[in-house]
Amino acid sequence: MDHFTLKDGVLHAEDVPLPLIAEAVGTPVYVYSRATLERHARVFREALGNVPDKLIAFAVKANPNLAVLKVLQGQGLGADVVSVGEMRRALAAGIAPEKIVFSGVGKTAAEMRAALEAGIGQFNIESEEEGAELAAIAAGMGLTAQCALRVNPDVDAGTHDKISTGKADNKFGVPISAAGQIFATLARLPGIHLRGVAVHIGSQLNDLAPLETAFGKLGALVTALRGAGHAITHVDLGGGLGVPYRRGEQLPQPAEYGAMVARVTKDWGARLIFEPGRVIAGNAGVLLTRVIRVKRGIRDPFVIVDAAMNDLARPALYGAYHHFEAVAPRGGKMVANIVGPICETGDTFAMGRECDALDAGDLAVFRTAGAYGATMASSYNSRGFVAEVLVDGDRFAVVADRIEAGAIMAAERVPEWLG
Ligand SMILES: *Cc1c(COP(=O)(O)O)cnc(C)c1O
Repeated sequence: MDHFTLKDGVLHAEDVPLPLIAEAVGTPVYVYSRATLERHARVFREALGNVPDKLIAFAVKANPNLAVLKVLQGQGLGADVVSVGEMRRALAAGIAPEKIVFSGVGKTAAEMRAALEAGIGQFNIESEEEGAELAAIAAGMGLTAQCALRVNPDVDAGTHDKISTGKADNKFGVPISAAGQIFATLARLPGIHLRGVAVHIGSQLNDLAPLETAFGKLGALVTALRGAGHAITHVDLGGGLGVPYRRGEQLPQPAEYGAMVARVTKDWGARLIFEPGRVIAGNAGVLLTRVIRVKRGIRDPFVIVDAAMNDLARPALYGAYHHFEAVAPRGGKMVANIVGPICETGDTFAMGRECDALDAGDLAVFRTAGAYGATMASSYNSRGFVAEVLVDGDRFAVVADRIEAGAIMAAERVPEWLG
C-alpha cells in the first residue's frame, strides 16, 4: 500500500497534488512519500514480530537520499552499506555505527580503515582474501572487526540474471561447500571476531521457496560450525523481497516472509540481521515527468517524456516494467511507446503499452521508482542529475537539488597545452 492516490482527478503524493511539485521544482523529479516509507518500515518490522532478536538494516544502495535515510533512522532501522560513501550517508542520517553492516566484494583497504574508525557493527566478509586483509588492517590499528562470513548457497533465486547473487558462479560470498574450512582459517586470525554467517541470494524475489532453501542451507552450516567449536551469534539473512511493479501482481507479503523466517530459524538462537531495500523504498517513490511531445509511429505513437534512462535506468538495464500513468487522467486510453529523449534505442520505458491518453505538456508518473531509481542516475547526454522531493502530509521539500549540466561541466578542465 502506498500514499500516491487520485484525489479530485489529480494524482497526489499524500496531500500534495503532483502538478504543484512539477511547477515548483520542474521535471523530471523523483517524489517520495514519508508516510509510505514509514508504513513499509513498520510493516516489515511487524512481520518479524516472532523473531526475538533482530536488526533491520536498510540496504542503502536502494535509496541513499539523506532525507530518506533520516526517515528510516526515525523508524529504528540500521543500514546495510556497500561503500564508504554509503556508510558516511548512514552516519550523517544519524544511524548508529553499531547498526551499520558493510557488505560487498570489493571493500578497499581505505574503506576498511574508515569503517573500523567509525566503529561499524559488522563486516560481511565475502572472501578468504578479504578476511585476511581486514584482519591485518584491524590488528594493525589495535582493533577487532566484528565479522560474518557471507556464503554463496548456490540457490537460483529465480529473478533477473543481473540481480541474482546466490548462484555458484556469481561473484558474491564463498561457496557454501568451502565455508567451514574458510571460517576455521579466518576465525584464527587476530583483528577479526568471526561470529556469524550471511546470505543474500538476489533481488526482486517473487517466490519464498528459494529463500527458504537458502536459509535451510545456512541453518545446517550454523549447526556444522557450532559442531566445530565456533560460537555463532549472528546470522544475516540479506534482503531480496520483491515488490509489485504491475497492477494486480501478487507477491509474497512481508507477513508470509516473516512467518517463514520465524519457522526456519526458531532454533537458531542467534541475532538475525535483515537487509531489505526495495520492499521498503520501491513503492514509496514515483518519477514525475512531463510529456515533451507525441510523435506518430509506424504502428503506435511515441510518447516522448522528459525523463530518460539516465534518470531511471531499470528498464534499460533489466527490461524492467514500471507502471506509467497520467497525473490528471482524462478517461481515454492509448497504446503507445513510452520513450525518453536520449539518443539510444535503450532509452525506452515501454513498447506497445496501454496507458492513459496523453498529449504534449501533460504530466505522468512512473510508479515504484523509490528503489534503484535516482541512485542509479547518471548525467548521460549531459542531462544533469535528477532532483528529488520528499512529501510529508501537505508539505514537501526538495531533498536533492537538480544538478544542472553546467555544474558538471564546471568541474571539467581543458589543459592549457590544448591551447
Ligand atoms: C542489494 C542488496 C540488498 C537489498 O536487496 P533488496 O532486493 O533491495 O531487498 C541487501 N543485501 C545485500 C548484500 C545487497 O547487495
